[in-house]
Amino acid sequence: MTSGITPAFDGTAGVDLTGRTAMVTGAGSGIGRACATAFAAAGALVHVVDIDKESAEAVAEEIGGRAHVVDLARPDSVEELPAEVDVLVNNAGFQHVAPLTEFPPERFELIQKVMVHAPFLLLRRTLPHMYARGWGRVVNISSVHGLRASAFKAGYVTAKHALEGLSKVAALEGAPYGVTSNCINPGYVRTPLVEQQIAAQAAAHGIDPEQVVSEVMLSRSAIKRMIRPEEVAAVALWICGPHTGYITGSSLPLDGGWTAA
Ligand code: NAD
Repeated sequence: MTSGITPAFDGTAGVDLTGRTAMVTGAGSGIGRACATAFAAAGALVHVVDIDKESAEAVAEEIGGRAHVVDLARPDSVEELPAEVDVLVNNAGFQHVAPLTEFPPERFELIQKVMVHAPFLLLRRTLPHMYARGWGRVVNISSVHGLRASAFKAGYVTAKHALEGLSKVAALEGAPYGVTSNCINPGYVRTPLVEQQIAAQAAAHGIDPEQVVSEVMLSRSAIKRMIRPEEVAAVALWICGPHTGYITGSSLPLDGGWTAA
C-alpha cells in the first residue's frame, strides 16, 4: 500500500485530546491500563484510578498521569476523585465464577458495588462538569456478558446488563449537553482477570490451560483468538474522536462474532 494514502496507525488514530482530562477506573492493569495509555498518548491528562497502589502509581508515572488509590466498593471513595473530567471510562471490575445456588451473596453485592454503583456515583460526580463544558464522553467497559449470559457468572452478567441500562440513561440525559455515553462489549481479553479464570477452569476440568482457551473460551467466537487490551483501548479512544459524536446509547461488540451467531 502506498504511504500517504493510508497513514500508519500511531496509537491515537488522529484523535487529539489535548486540553481534555480523562478518568479511567481500574487503570492499573489490563484494559484500563491500555485505555489510560492511549488517552495519554492522545494528549489528555489522565487520572489513573485503582485499588492497587503499586500499579496505579506505576501506570501514572509511565504516562505522566495522576494516580488515585481508592476502593470503588466504598461509596465515599468517589468523593476523593476529581469531578472535573471530560472523559469518564468506567472500567474497574472483577469476576466470580460459581453456580447460582452456591454464589456467595457478599461477592454478588461487591460486584454490583464496584461495577454498577460506582459508575453511577461517578456519573453523578462528573456529568455536571461535562454539561457545563458542553462536551463529554462516557465510555463504559461492559462485556459480551452485557449482551449475553454465561452459566456460573450471575454476579458479573447481572452487573454488566445493569451497566448497559445506566449507559443508555446517561446517553438520553447527556445528549442536550454534547455528552455521549456508550458501552464497549469485548469478548475474552487476555488480562490478569482472564488468566485467573483460565487457571481455575484448567484445574476444575483437569485440562491444559491452552485447551481452556480454545475449547471453552473461544468456542462461541467466530474469530479464534482473544482480543488484545490495546484493541479495546483503540475503540475507546475512537469514541472520543471527531467523527463519532452521533454514536450514543450504543453497545459496540468487540466479540469476534460471538453475538452474531
Ligand atoms: P484486570 O484484572 O486486568 O484489571 C482490573 C483492574 O480493576 C485491576 O487493576 C484492579 O485492581 C481494579 N479494581 C478491581 N476492583 C477494584 C476496586 N474495588 N476499586 C478500584 N479498582 C478496582 O481486568 P481487565 O480484564 O482489564 O478488566 C477490565 C474491565 O474489562 C472489567 O470491567 C471487565 O469486566 C471488562 N472486561 C474484561 C474482559 C476480559 O476478557 N478480560 C472481557 C470483557 C470485559
